Amino acid sequence: METDYLKNKFEQKNYNYYGKFLKEKFSSKVFKIIVDAGFTCPNRDGSKGFGGCNYCNVDSFTPGETRKGGTITEQVLRGMERAKKSYEAEKFIVYFQPNTNTYAKTETLKKYFDEALSVSSNEIVGLSVGTRPDCIDEEKISLLQSYTKDFNVCLEFGLESIYDETLVKINRGYSHEEFEKAMKLSQNKGIDLCVHTVFGFPWETEEQMLAVADELNNYKIQFVKLHHLHVVKGSKMAYDYKKKPFKLFTLEEYTDFLCKFLPKLNPEIFIQRLFGISDWDELIAPNWKLKKTLIQNYIENAFVSRNVFQGMNYTQTKN
Ligand code: SF4
Repeated sequence: METDYLKNKFEQKNYNYYGKFLKEKFSSKVFKIIVDAGFTCPNRDGSKGFGGCNYCNVDSFTPGETRKGGTITEQVLRGMERAKKSYEAEKFIVYFQPNTNTYAKTETLKKYFDEALSVSSNEIVGLSVGTRPDCIDEEKISLLQSYTKDFNVCLEFGLESIYDETLVKINRGYSHEEFEKAMKLSQNKGIDLCVHTVFGFPWETEEQMLAVADELNNYKIQFVKLHHLHVVKGSKMAYDYKKKPFKLFTLEEYTDFLCKFLPKLNPEIFIQRLFGISDWDELIAPNWKLKKTLIQNYIENAFVSRNVFQGMNYTQTKN
């Protein structure tokens, strides 16, 4: 695609950034409030396995505020108050994030979602639900659809890898075929779809990771979250890493990778995250020793200096 067209489209950055989506959609300062409803995951509780994904420690990506617990209403109110004070937030998206947030009966999900969305009807504008491809069905999709009349609804799937060999190695507990089925079931339902990926499993080649862009381009998804692999305390991977450290991305290498990945990605997809974020107390490696904004600036500056734009090599696929 022509870079002049892409420059115009993205306005301030070299990629379709999430802040632009929020601004255009809500015309106010919108902040996500993370809520922990106490779910688990099927690869933790024994239904598909034990121990969860081998790189995961839920605490490493759950903010301290959320870890304080409380009812859903208390968590939403606490999160809103903090976001108003610290970021002058005006509107809110309630984000059911930790663990698998559709891993329960539909009536239980309805109870939780209804409670969260009713806390402040004039300030809450969206519902975002993080889940796994093997924990969604038509009934749950219908429930989420029922909220789209009044709220922006986003369903977020962990893809992590498109390779079954990796999915087995990291103990995900399902195959890539289930991701494909989940996407087909969820797309075109008035629900925004977000896909979360992880790059840097030491056995995956660069070519294999770049092919993820082609797979994402096959679906009608609105958002992606791109993450580099983190080894965090309390995970099975941390144990393996301690026994025998393996190669992880440096910031420079990950930036080089993104400079190849981004041009392949459909420019209509908004990017919610360019890299992984873990609590510093939980992170073992790679520690890039920079704050989030400095990492963001480093990567974005590389896009500019190398004249890299999301979608510049994108060719329309079947969707
Ligand atoms: S990565 Fe997600 S699905 Fe895997 S164990 Fe952690 S919360 Fe559960």
